[in-house]
Amino acid sequence: MKPVTDAVTSARMSRQRRVGTKPEIALRRELHRRGKRFFVDRAPLPGLRRRADIVFPRRKVAVYVDGCFWHSCPEHATFPKNNAEFWSAKLAGNVARDRDTDERLRAAGWTVVRVWEHEGADSAADLVLRAVT
Ligand SMILES: [Zn+2]
Repeated sequence: MKPVTDAVTSARMSRQRRVGTKPEIALRRELHRRGKRFFVDRAPLPGLRRRADIVFPRRKVAVYVDGCFWHSCPEHATFPKNNAEFWSAKLAGNVARDRDTDERLRAAGWTVVRVWEHEGADSAADLVLRAVT
């Protein structure tokens, strides 16, 4: 089924890219500024084909910058009115997948840090540093 999307939703979709959303870039810049080195857009586990936005392999820390729309942030989650059923299933699926990813990584001894895109780069970097130091 091909969903009919409204203008706002399609704009959102075209902005969505695997690498380098604005909040991701801001966080990477802030971490660099604080002297951190890391990998970008990398699958933490060889058997798990799910990339993390920022990875510290030696520390076993995987960082995800979750988009408020795609990952249903409690403050900013919105549900498109067109094809409401399609979207609620799709977004619920994303969240379930996130939790599944978290579990698999933790089971393999990783620390998962998730920050929302609405979070400032500064406080996001604080959270990451807490996990890697
Ligand atoms: Zn949000």
